[in-house]
Amino acid sequence: MGEKVYIAQVIVNNNSLQTDKIFDYTIPESLLMTIQEGMRCMVPFGMGNKKLEAYIIKIKTEEEVKYRLKEILYIIDEEPILSRNQIKMIGWLKNKYLCRYIEAIQCVLPAGIINKERKTISLLKEEWIEDIKENSTKQKDILQVLKALGGKATLEKLYNKLPISNMNNILKTLEKKGIIKIDYEIATRVKIQTQQYVQLNIEEEVIEDIIVSLKNASRQKEILLFLKEHKICPVKELIDVLKVTRGSLNALVNKGYLIIIDKEYKRDPFKNTTFESFPKLEPNLQQQRAIEKIVSYIQKEKSNTFLLHGVTGSGKTEIYLQLIEEILKKEKQGIILVPEIALTPQTIERFYGRFGEGIAVLHSNLSEGERFDEWRKIREGKVNIAIGARSAIFAPFRNLGMIIIDEEHENTYKSEISPKYHAIEVADFRRRQEGAVVILGSATPSIETYYKGEVGEITLLTLAERATVSALPEVEVVDMRQELDKGNKGILSHRLFSLIDKNLERKKQTILFLNRRGYATFISCRQCGYVIKCRHCDITMIYHKNMKNLQCHYCGEKKEEPKHCPSCSSTHINYFGTGTQKIQDLIGEHFPNAVIARMDMDSTSIKGSHKKILNSFKKQEIDILIGTQMISKGLDFPNVTLVGIISGDASLNLPDFRASEKTFQLVTQVAGRAGRGLEEGRVILQTYNPDHYSICAAAQHDYNRFYKEELELRKEFAYPPFVQLININFSGKKSEDVYTVAEKISNNIKYILKGKGYNNYEEIILGPNPAMIAKVKERYRFQILLKDYNVPYSLLKAIVKYLLIDNRQKFIPQAISISVDINPSYIM
Ligand code: ADP
Ligand code: ZN
Ligand code: ZN
Repeated sequence: MGEKVYIAQVIVNNNSLQTDKIFDYTIPESLLMTIQEGMRCMVPFGMGNKKLEAYIIKIKTEEEVKYRLKEILYIIDEEPILSRNQIKMIGWLKNKYLCRYIEAIQCVLPAGIINKERKTISLLKEEWIEDIKENSTKQKDILQVLKALGGKATLEKLYNKLPISNMNNILKTLEKKGIIKIDYEIATRVKIQTQQYVQLNIEEEVIEDIIVSLKNASRQKEILLFLKEHKICPVKELIDVLKVTRGSLNALVNKGYLIIIDKEYKRDPFKNTTFESFPKLEPNLQQQRAIEKIVSYIQKEKSNTFLLHGVTGSGKTEIYLQLIEEILKKEKQGIILVPEIALTPQTIERFYGRFGEGIAVLHSNLSEGERFDEWRKIREGKVNIAIGARSAIFAPFRNLGMIIIDEEHENTYKSEISPKYHAIEVADFRRRQEGAVVILGSATPSIETYYKGEVGEITLLTLAERATVSALPEVEVVDMRQELDKGNKGILSHRLFSLIDKNLERKKQTILFLNRRGYATFISCRQCGYVIKCRHCDITMIYHKNMKNLQCHYCGEKKEEPKHCPSCSSTHINYFGTGTQKIQDLIGEHFPNAVIARMDMDSTSIKGSHKKILNSFKKQEIDILIGTQMISKGLDFPNVTLVGIISGDASLNLPDFRASEKTFQLVTQVAGRAGRGLEEGRVILQTYNPDHYSICAAAQHDYNRFYKEELELRKEFAYPPFVQLININFSGKKSEDVYTVAEKISNNIKYILKGKGYNNYEEIILGPNPAMIAKVKERYRFQILLKDYNVPYSLLKAIVKYLLIDNRQKFIPQAISISVDINPSYIM
């Protein structure tokens, strides 16, 4: 028998379906010492042996290989770029969400690394030939090629000219000798930035003597004294602080007392903002209890998940801050997830205000370079806290102690692109894998999470009172049907008008909430009832008054405001519904002296405008703030004593099993913005469904009542948490074709279930049905919903995987796109 064969199992960096597999390559002997799992390498791929980048996920040995394997060309990284835990995560994501390997890798690594990072080598020393030993021919060859290439080349280019598989080792040696420099560049735009630092080049004991010898050069003396104390300092800062010239500095460098070095410098997205310090608060009794309970787990290094169910204003943030402090004491690290960074500036400010530097912030506005820098700060242990939206759950900490998910019920924690992961599920995987503690915080937990608390799967902690003296605001329900009977055809009730008036008189602030941007919802003809819809999507177009046009909120299609009905040419065209813009006009007419601002996607499209509006609201320069759900969370302004919810039941009629839940959550969250100061707050909740349980429960701040009623319904109609769902979406240009394929798949699923002895497929398979939005961007959409009703979930998933992933080419024609959503957030 021959020698052992060393094999690397790799995932190639390619998006096509055919390459979504694990490929085996043999490892050349020259690489055996350096190759490690998690490194990237270059491999020959396919018929033409095209060079492709690949991620090594496993190294194994075999006695013999049955068929010829290709060999790895060379290694790209010096250190593994994927940790062991990340490699496990990739496998888990793939199995859990039925995504492609490369999509899973795209989750755990920042975009810059995956697609654009290039390793470049530059020749530093012209006279390199003197430093190379006679017998090091490979070193010489490389340098010769590098020189021929103009002194700078990417690793790929170098290898193309000179295919040496252990190129990396030789380059490392050359770098140690100071002959070459190795850089990672992302495309050409973002480089790892460096900055000049100045540092002492002499022993400390001789400094005094040197200072004496400098006689009259007082500037130079100052510099030496400063560096004696600080050791190293950025050149720019030294010149700034000491008010010395570059000349004085150079003089010392020339004498050999100091040296200038290039050190890596990291872009900091929050660099130019200062944060007010946010000192530790003495926890109250209910906070204390929650903290103690969780800390007992941290002390015992026991992993667990907690649901922190605390009413709005109960001081959950203070609990997060104190827990993170405990984690830092243990020399561990923490991740804090917020629904959206831009919408939660106050939370970020509090973390900065408490911990100062040492925080990485990952938000969607970061440039690719900034994101890469933040990611590296986390990976290299330069920071111990990461705050971010959904994707921050993948922050590459090496000793993760805690994951906090604030407002855990929010939709934004579920990804809408493949892998369609939920941050809570990923958090749970990391908890098990890395032994961390998970905290889910909310005033209105999702039914599924609360249910887990109730059955003891996670630990439920409750904060029933607000942390400050303020009580929860009183919610007054205004029945808009009665308003109509009284002859008020408007969208604002008399009661709301009169309270706004009073509030203005008393110099208090008001928030008006409407979950709809634009002017009127839709335009329809009075004569024939025609409603203007987008021609690409099956959805009503929304009127935007300031632009005098109609817009599709799905595809962005714009259309001029019609003068005649496109169907019957009647001029009687009506504007129905109300958006934030219309409210702003109405309020402006009614209260001409009030300062009014609006916050929604249209008014905050310019970077920084969101913050500006909030700041001037904070400074009480604005009397009335009108907004969409952008203003529903996180805001803590003590002078707000009135909140008006203009259409409390807007989301109640959505054809989704979570419609009631979303309504309850939104109303509770918005109401929670009121009365956070010394004065009592009041909420006006306008609705056409005053008797609906989600409206009643929200008005009474009664989560438990809502939970009980909702849970009953979920049980009756077999929805989560009683079943798990899989949604399969089919789309394509021809409606009949899409339906035919969906029906075929549905029949296949039935057939397989029948074969396994499950005949209740009426309860298991729903559809194919047209999706709620039956057409988007010229593509018709159908869906199949699967429920694990009296059938093992694992079986359903295996069937889906078999039909749609493993044998996709066999069952799904090219023209049809499919998308599988495991535990969908909503079914549209
Ligand atoms: P939540 O996130 O639960 O809605 P916050 O964390 O915003 O609540 O807290 C509401 C208010 O209560 C904040 O102004 C906060 O500073 C204050 N607060 C929290 N804990 C305490 C405490 N122990 N003592 C005094 N004030 C507190
Ligand atoms: Zn459209
Ligand atoms: Zn008409």
